[in-house]
Amino acid sequence: MRIMDFSLAMYTEICKALKSQNVVTVQSYLSNVPKSPCIVLRHDVDRSLKNALAMAKLEHEYGIQSTYYFRYPHTFNIRVMKQIYSLGHEIGYHYEVLDKARGDSRKAIAVFQKELEIFRKFFPVKTVCMHGNPLTRWDGRDIWSLYNFQDFGLLGEAFLSCSDISIYLTDTGRNWNGNHNFKDKLKTENENRNFKSTVDVIRFLNSEKVSSIYLNCHPERWGPGLLGWFKALLRDHLFNFGKKVLKLIRSGSKG
Ligand SMILES: [Zn+2]
Repeated sequence: MRIMDFSLAMYTEICKALKSQNVVTVQSYLSNVPKSPCIVLRHDVDRSLKNALAMAKLEHEYGIQSTYYFRYPHTFNIRVMKQIYSLGHEIGYHYEVLDKARGDSRKAIAVFQKELEIFRKFFPVKTVCMHGNPLTRWDGRDIWSLYNFQDFGLLGEAFLSCSDISIYLTDTGRNWNGNHNFKDKLKTENENRNFKSTVDVIRFLNSEKVSSIYLNCHPERWGPGLLGWFKALLRDHLFNFGKKVLKLIRSGSKG
C-alpha cells in the first residue's frame, strides 16, 4: 500500500531511516566537540501539540532523541512538554519576540528574558530557535546582532549556531527543496536538490554518510488522521499562495 506523504506513517519511514544513524538534539550537537557526521533533528511546534506528542513517542520507539521548540503561549503546554521531555527529547524555546515587539529590539529582548524564565521554571532550556512568521517583516534572529544569547546562559540558537552544517532539509511549505521558505533557512545552504517527495529525502538520508545533515520537521504536517492531513494540506497551500502574493508585493515596492 502506498503511504501518504506528510503523514505520521511517512514519518515512521523517516524514523526507520534515522534509526541506524547518529541522530542528535541541537543541544548535544553544540556540546559535542569534536564533531563527527550526524543528523541534527529539530521540530518547531508551531501548532499541533497532539501531533508533536505522537511524533515524540514514535521517535522514542526508534531510540531517537530530538529537539522540540515550543512557542509562548501558543503551544506552551506543560503537560505535553513534560511527556515529551520524559521521553529523552530536548525542550527549547521557539521565540518570536521581534514580531511581538513590532521590531523594537529593547522591548523584544525584555520579552525574550521573561518568556525564557517561564520555560526554565519547568525545563533546563539550553537552546532557542527563531519562529519565522512569513507574514511579518522582521527576522527574529536579527535581535542577536545587538544582544548575546550566551548572556542568557544559552548554548546556542538553532539557526545561527548550526550554520557549519551545509545540508539543511526542512518540510516548510511541503516542499523539501526550499521553494517556499522566507525565513526558514540556514545562511550557508547553497546546494540545489530536486526532491519530489519525502521518499527522495529518505533515500538521501540513507545515502549521505560523510556530511552532517540538519533536518527540520514541523509536527503539524505529520499527523496520524485523514482529517488532520487534509487540514495541513489546505493550510500549506494557503500559506504558499500567501507567500507568493507577499513576494510580488515586496518585489513591487522595492522596484
Ligand atoms: Zn515556527
